[in-house]
Amino acid sequence: EMHWPLVDKADKKKPKIRDLPYCQGNRKQRLEQQRKALPIASVEKRLVEEVQKNDTLIIVGETGSGKTTQLPQFLLNGGFCHDGKIIGITQPRRVAAVTVAKRVAEECGVELGQKVGYSIRFEDVTSSSTRIKYMTDGLLLREALLDPFLSRYSVIIVDEAHERTIHTDVLLGLLKNVQNARSRSINKCLNIENTEANYGKLLKRENDANCVSILKRCQGVKFPSLKLIIMSASLDARGFSEYFGGARSVYIQGRQFPVDIFYTHHAEPDYVDAALITIFQIHLEEGPGDILVFLTGQEEIESVERLVQERLRQLPEGSQKLLTVPIFSSLPSEQQMKAFMPAPAGFRKVILATNIAETSVTIPGIKYVIDPGVVKARTYNAHTGIESLDIVKTSKAQALQRSGRAGRERPGKCFRLYPESEFGQLADSTEPEIKRCNLSNVILQLKALGVDDIIGFDFLEKPSRMAIVKSLEQLFLLGAITDDSKLSDPIGHQMARLPLDPVYSKALILASQFNCLEEMLIAVAMLSVESIFYTPREKLEEARTAMKCFSSPEGDHITLINVYRASDEFVEKIKQGNDKEKTEKKLRKWCKENFINSRSLRHARDIHSQIRRHAEQMGLCVASCGDDMLQFRRCLAASFFLNAALKQPEGTYRALASGQSVRIHPSSVLFRTKPECIIFNELVQTNHCYIRNITRIDFLWLPELAPQYYAVQN
Ligand code: ADP
Ligand code: MG
Repeated sequence: EMHWPLVDKADKKKPKIRDLPYCQGNRKQRLEQQRKALPIASVEKRLVEEVQKNDTLIIVGETGSGKTTQLPQFLLNGGFCHDGKIIGITQPRRVAAVTVAKRVAEECGVELGQKVGYSIRFEDVTSSSTRIKYMTDGLLLREALLDPFLSRYSVIIVDEAHERTIHTDVLLGLLKNVQNARSRSINKCLNIENTEANYGKLLKRENDANCVSILKRCQGVKFPSLKLIIMSASLDARGFSEYFGGARSVYIQGRQFPVDIFYTHHAEPDYVDAALITIFQIHLEEGPGDILVFLTGQEEIESVERLVQERLRQLPEGSQKLLTVPIFSSLPSEQQMKAFMPAPAGFRKVILATNIAETSVTIPGIKYVIDPGVVKARTYNAHTGIESLDIVKTSKAQALQRSGRAGRERPGKCFRLYPESEFGQLADSTEPEIKRCNLSNVILQLKALGVDDIIGFDFLEKPSRMAIVKSLEQLFLLGAITDDSKLSDPIGHQMARLPLDPVYSKALILASQFNCLEEMLIAVAMLSVESIFYTPREKLEEARTAMKCFSSPEGDHITLINVYRASDEFVEKIKQGNDKEKTEKKLRKWCKENFINSRSLRHARDIHSQIRRHAEQMGLCVASCGDDMLQFRRCLAASFFLNAALKQPEGTYRALASGQSVRIHPSSVLFRTKPECIIFNELVQTNHCYIRNITRIDFLWLPELAPQYYAVQN
């Protein structure tokens, strides 16, 4: 069943480090016991009744009480899937959708993708027999484009609503409309109350012309009312309730053991280092129990992973072993599940997680939490129109959620890597994402859904007018909307169909005209993952030398393409005579030798095959420009003209659209050459404003290829 690859046979004699109910009974019985022990289990019947009685219901419950895994199963058993309808559960994070679906499939004793499945961008594991479908909030928004009434669903559960991702916020607005529309169309037809029985009558009156037209609009909706459930871990449900016309809220009692909170004496200059020290302090001085460390992203997690391994080698022989397990969103899904497996005897598990472990997933066995007090978040400056990913302080609410993770099964400890005085200065809660990000993506989708008046849209919380206007302007400059703010045909419609950021969608469309779509598909796939190159601090020189084999004097985009193509050639070469698993293994080895992050590369390869299929389905011309990289660079300029920058006398750059002063990130192949004019794809704000993923262009291309922007400016 579950075997860690690292189990050391000799350790079997050692006493077990902790006492968890993992080793008794058969797995099925154990799962059943665990389910029954969840706080939510005792209220199954009442919850089902509440859903029957209320079209919209808000469920608040502490993290780990069983909302996400259990409620859909209750509803399935409660008959909400008759007529083959589906229960959809949205998650803000891919990892949650995947790991929870796997867990629930196991609890139900079915194969994943059959009765229980998941669907996330670039990965659909569902079938016609799927009844419980976990998915990301963004994905459901996309589904609405094809099925405006979401007619396949009888229930939609918007989970983790307290996270207030931009997709959740937009989705809530949309669902409100769908819910109204579904009942209104029926009401109007019968002029009576919308009940299932009446709907049956409606079906019998199909000859009625009015009725037929409405039925057509309903697109075969058989169970007219859409049940909407909003689940949240934050106690304040008022905002949601008011938004849904005073919808009913119910509370599920959680179970929480006391957690001792520790702070540092002084502010720590390097939280990664502080986290590392704390991991070993706990490991060497504290009793049994697993450790959960909150970090900001893949790169950081992987570097801490290496540093822990390194320090472990310095520990005296015979000390208890430590096992690091990463969990972040782009981790291949089979590896994500490792975090949930119990550590083998003699090992203490250290889970290195992004914010995903804050409320989205609950990992059993945690007794210690290390919280550096930071999180990676999108920030958007509506004046400059520039969005960046920054490391920012968590809110008080987040700090509380994080520490709570230590007290799920017994009393625990939380180590906050900042002084107590700093806690008081944290914001109470996190600002909703819709107030701090570029809106062009969701505006494009709303427009594709027929919502033209964005400013008038019924948002749970309105984004600033400035941000809306700026994003509309960006869409206009990309040719996605016309000057009267309508979706353009065909560009706007095509862009809305692609599951990518609008600028990337536009880049693909343009690339098919520039005859370099092969190259652009690779570039976009590679840009969609974090850190392709892996540069450990201790082997910096070696890593740099390895990178030189791929690097192009023109910039990072072509360098990334070179890496992708080299990996492709390698796979082609070894494919014969090797099965899939062996090929993967050899590719991992190749990556290691070339200082390439194999997880990222694999993810990029997956994304590539998906977007390639999309492009083909849309009828875009997938051709290669061969060695004519000039053509490709011109296409980059035509696509990313809003991110052009010019060198300044002192060697920094000025971003043309915003006027902001920026520097080339040291990881760029152009860090030393510093060409006159460049385009970039990413902005990261640390002590300076750095740009990443950069290509050299000719300044004169800008007015030629983006006259809609640069001709006016000059
Ligand atoms: P909530 O949504 O209320 O936060 P969940 O339904 O996610 O709670 O989790 C309920 C329980 O199921 C938790 O105790 C958690 O540890 C367990 N659980 C969830 N997913 C997994 C998994 N993949 N493996 C093992 N246990 C899991
Ligand atoms: Mg949950």
